[in-house]
Amino acid sequence: MVLQRVFRAVIMGPPGSGKGTISERITKSFGLKHVSSGDILRNNMNAKTELGLLMKACIDQGQLLPDNMMARLILHDLRALGNESWLLDGFPRTILQAEALDDAYSVDTVINLNVPFETIKKRLSSRWTHTPSGRVYNIDFNPPKVPGLDDVTGEPLVQRDDDTPHTVSRRLKAYENQTEPVLEYYRSKGVLQTFSGTETNKIWPHVEAFLQRKLTILSKKVAGHG
Ligand code: AMP
Repeated sequence: MVLQRVFRAVIMGPPGSGKGTISERITKSFGLKHVSSGDILRNNMNAKTELGLLMKACIDQGQLLPDNMMARLILHDLRALGNESWLLDGFPRTILQAEALDDAYSVDTVINLNVPFETIKKRLSSRWTHTPSGRVYNIDFNPPKVPGLDDVTGEPLVQRDDDTPHTVSRRLKAYENQTEPVLEYYRSKGVLQTFSGTETNKIWPHVEAFLQRKLTILSKKVAGHG
């Protein structure tokens, strides 16, 4: 589908809810730019900048980084996209971050993946990542074609340092305490769309159909005004 106007979306859901996989499918099907706060942070860490090392200490403990730093980092990247349509993944994670985003952009839709914590705890232990690209695999339901290797580059996959059971529990707590209020924030603005389930492949068709409907309506509006 060809977008007729700038479309700005946010994807939310606890760590391990399938945000990465669904985001990849959305960006492929609808041509949005994927902006992932976690990927941006991991790139900084891989580059071993001073800031990157400080970040790593925080991330490995499953803690959120300071709001003002995150807002500056993400808004800078969004500005660089100009009038391109985007899908924001991993930001905002707090009310303060949501307000900072609101001051700069109006968000068209927020896709919320509602996956039970129990499913997530099991799932994260089987998650493997291709660090340079951020591509994510799950050995149970989304395995790489060759075990242990990235489909596109053939490079080795690794497990994230913050996917250990202890850190996962912390990250889920941070989600509950700091990020769930953001869902309420968007619900009250009327832009929240929740998709519940335990399997990414079953959730995806609903997300795809929703976005298709949404973008068709927006395109008609643009045509009507043109
Ligand atoms: P993710 O890959 O999105 O789960 O992010 C990995 C880690 O990066 C999180 O556990 C946080 O420590 C940090 N992080 C990512 N996005 C944010 C954000 N918007 N605010 C604060 N910390 C973040």
